Amino acid sequence: MPPAKAVAKAFPARETIEGAGVRLHRAFGYDQLPLFDPFLMLDDFRAERPSDYLAGFPWHPHRGIETVTYMLEGRVEHGDSLGHSGSVEAGGVQWMTAGSGIIHQEMPKPVDGRMGGFQLWVNLPRSHKMIDPRYQEVPGDEIPVVSPQRGVRIRIISGTVDEVSGPVQDIVGYPEFLDVTLGPDVPFSHEVKAEHTAAAYVIGGSGNFDLRQERELSNLTTVLFAQEGRWVHIIAGSRGVRFLYFSGKPLRDPVAWRGPIVMNTEEELRQAFDEYRKGTFLRKR
Ligand code: FE
Repeated sequence: MPPAKAVAKAFPARETIEGAGVRLHRAFGYDQLPLFDPFLMLDDFRAERPSDYLAGFPWHPHRGIETVTYMLEGRVEHGDSLGHSGSVEAGGVQWMTAGSGIIHQEMPKPVDGRMGGFQLWVNLPRSHKMIDPRYQEVPGDEIPVVSPQRGVRIRIISGTVDEVSGPVQDIVGYPEFLDVTLGPDVPFSHEVKAEHTAAAYVIGGSGNFDLRQERELSNLTTVLFAQEGRWVHIIAGSRGVRFLYFSGKPLRDPVAWRGPIVMNTEEELRQAFDEYRKGTFLRKR
């Protein structure tokens, strides 16, 4: 057996309020900087009560990051300063590169009374903070599903498994983002690129993410794998397990972060908020 990564940290998501009053769970964020580099934040907005999310995320700016919205149920309706509008439906993903700046709104809506999804923030390297904004939007039926072994089902949003590549491509740093479901007691191994940060967020069932320990992690638990070792080894518990898995190359850049804008210096932050106030935030294209 090749050397497996230990779990460096495992901790529960925290309840918080974002946007215009959306109650959500933050898997990790500002408080964990820079542990998950190049990832900044993961929010879990699965919710039962519409009053927890209908206020949504009205018009706000982003600069310097990418936001990845992945829906399991319901939809997020969005509109933005590029004149683009639409919705991310259940099973689909929107990978938005804010780059030099975008102003948008994101409004979760129930479908058949259900709504649930996740938003991952990926930092942009200093050299790419101010690139032109763009989107990659992929409906659920265009996200490939692979089953490299019995009892394993992987939806590949970004990255490659078993020579199948996810539809989200040409992202700076080539991060991986997978939605992995394991049947009861099924083991799973996945190779991690050298020096990449690897993490998981459990969204159902339970499983053992570090075979040196007899600890089962369940829904709403964030897992950060250690640097040492080249593989993650996971064994599902008796009810199976489902988790989001992501990995990426750390940027090791200085981080200056306020709200929806993440730059490298305080001066760049001041400039961004100044421009937003003056109405000069968006770059001419
Ligand atoms: Fe946003």
